[in-house]
Amino acid sequence: MPKTENEKGFVDVVNGRYKPKGVFHIPEANQPIFNKDTGKLAGITNPRDMTYMHSYGGEAPFFEGLGKGKLMATQCDNDKCEAKGSIYQPFRIYCPDCLRKNTVIDMTDLAKSTAKIHSYIITHRSGAFNSLPKPIKFINIEFEGVVTILMSVLAVGEPEFDKKVIPIFNTKSPTYTITDLRFVVEGTSESDLPEGFTY
Ligand SMILES: [Zn+2]
Repeated sequence: MPKTENEKGFVDVVNGRYKPKGVFHIPEANQPIFNKDTGKLAGITNPRDMTYMHSYGGEAPFFEGLGKGKLMATQCDNDKCEAKGSIYQPFRIYCPDCLRKNTVIDMTDLAKSTAKIHSYIITHRSGAFNSLPKPIKFINIEFEGVVTILMSVLAVGEPEFDKKVIPIFNTKSPTYTITDLRFVVEGTSESDLPEGFTY
């Protein structure tokens, strides 16, 4: 059942500290599990309703960017690093070669002009809590000059190797999660994008 505002947990950061407000653990009645053949008790169900505080830490600029239609990446700019200039998408806070903190960069235009499908897999059955429409077209995406491959979802069109794709963003009601970023095949009209998404 959807929760009322009084049954939700909210968190702000004030003076550098988390300030939780509201309800984070809701108790629910458990149920017995009986053996239908013997009539004997076999166990109980254990319902749990809790709100988890997931800190994004140094990855927060990536998730904040999605809701603003921006694809943020990171880049090593350490002169002493052999991998200097490497761009990481997915977002890596630290350079894996020199272990120094990377610089956050905006790669939205690069993604719009060079994203293409490296590989893909189509999933007809999903796990619990899936929110994506099925079948889910998972795509691995290459970008020019980016040393890593990004996994995302093709929201419109059929996947093919090397096919050009364009990022779309949930800018109208962002969830601040990875599902705010999806891709569509090149040439998709704005009116065919999923609800809440824009180029
Ligand atoms: Zn480096």
